[in-house]
Amino acid sequence: MNVMESQAPVSTLPIYHRSIDWDAFYRRYPVPDVFEKTRWRWSADQIRAFQNEQFLDLMKVGWENGFYRRRWSAAGIEPGDIKSIDDIAKLPTFDSDDIKKDQEANPPFGLINGDVRERLKTEPTKVQTSGGTTGKPRPTMYGPIDWEMNGLTMARVQYICGLRPGDIIQIPHTCSLGNAGWCCYKAAHDYLGALPLTTGTGVVTSSRRQIEIAREWGTNVWYVRPEYSTQLAKVARDELNFDLRELKTKFLGCGLGPDTDGAFAKQIEDLWGCPVYDMYGTHEIGMGSFECQAKSGMHFMEDCTFFEIVDTETEKPLPDGTIGNMVCTILFRRSMPVIRFNLRDLTKIVATDRCSCGSCFRRMQKMLGRSDTMVRIRGVSIWPQACLPAIKSDARTTGEWLCVAERKVRDGVVRDEMTVKVEVRNDAPGWDGLQEHVVRRLHSDLGITLGVELVPEDALMEWSNRGREGKPKRILDKRYDKT
Ligand SMILES: [Zn+2]
Repeated sequence: MNVMESQAPVSTLPIYHRSIDWDAFYRRYPVPDVFEKTRWRWSADQIRAFQNEQFLDLMKVGWENGFYRRRWSAAGIEPGDIKSIDDIAKLPTFDSDDIKKDQEANPPFGLINGDVRERLKTEPTKVQTSGGTTGKPRPTMYGPIDWEMNGLTMARVQYICGLRPGDIIQIPHTCSLGNAGWCCYKAAHDYLGALPLTTGTGVVTSSRRQIEIAREWGTNVWYVRPEYSTQLAKVARDELNFDLRELKTKFLGCGLGPDTDGAFAKQIEDLWGCPVYDMYGTHEIGMGSFECQAKSGMHFMEDCTFFEIVDTETEKPLPDGTIGNMVCTILFRRSMPVIRFNLRDLTKIVATDRCSCGSCFRRMQKMLGRSDTMVRIRGVSIWPQACLPAIKSDARTTGEWLCVAERKVRDGVVRDEMTVKVEVRNDAPGWDGLQEHVVRRLHSDLGITLGVELVPEDALMEWSNRGREGKPKRILDKRYDKT
């Protein structure tokens, strides 16, 4: 008898790789290449039937969760009221404020995350939060299936976009409490035979070093924040006298935000000489929607998530083609169930038919911005992120902007005004006509005349967060300041 076969004690530890029935898991949620040939091509009816089956299982989990049980009971819902996914709109929605309140009342993780310490005895658990630098982070717990799906859904998206075994993907996101870096690392490493270069943000690995690594090691795919991709191009040009197009990159995966006319994507594509595919997700929902290579809207990841678009005021579901808030139900999540989560991100459904890529997974328009950062100026609703196409419409800008709302009093008359500060590139040939152009374009996009102030490159660095964790801040509302 050799040493290996001697009587070893049986482990009672919650070992991750024994916590999932892998064959059953991959039958339920196929790996990228199998997915692309099968599930991705299902008809709308097949998708709906599969969503319904998962939803009914999820409802049982919801009723056992203190957060949902209280909310649903308070709304007068009883377990028998929800007979299929067609009844989903009977359930109340919730948003990030409700999670915050739950976690304040039931610290530290809230009823929504269940008894984390108890569950840890039998189930490996990972926690992620929003990547933002302001406010208290909201923890989201991931059990083994939840965590694995985080990587698997990203892997499917990267595969659809063209990532293949042998590729080298650079990931300038820090693997921290933020989710993006982890998802992409798992996708490349665990599922796609691609080498993940987890370089972290520009704070961890300088932009110059990021580019040197890419050149020396042969990076040919990037998963990167869009603002940072433009910063990398600038550093390559100014500090290394290097044109990023020489990297011969296959594609960039980016969360582009409200790039509704594609100008931002076009700018990055010109700098890098390759396609940019838009991807949308949050730590609460994981990978939500994404562009395929046909780039004709963003497909929802329909076989594991159910999306609705609802009215921003009444929260009633809206017909396709109408702009509203995105509401999301994650059909597989168990540690922190997500059932009718209102993301307060605005979009609309643009296509329900089969895409030229072969998929019937419905498509949404690119994000229009967050409804809760909306400001009303003289009766007009403005989403600061909706300024993006105007800012990008002139190549002399750096693409960075900040909306400043102020309350002015003249002769006793109160008037709210908004000025959009726009960064101009140092190497711009001149500022002639730029300010007037942006004013005109903003008026045509938003239906209101806003002030435009041109500022030098990097003047908005404090808000734009380039190369750091956290999304850029686009609005400074000074109207209610005491000072
Ligand atoms: Zn498609």
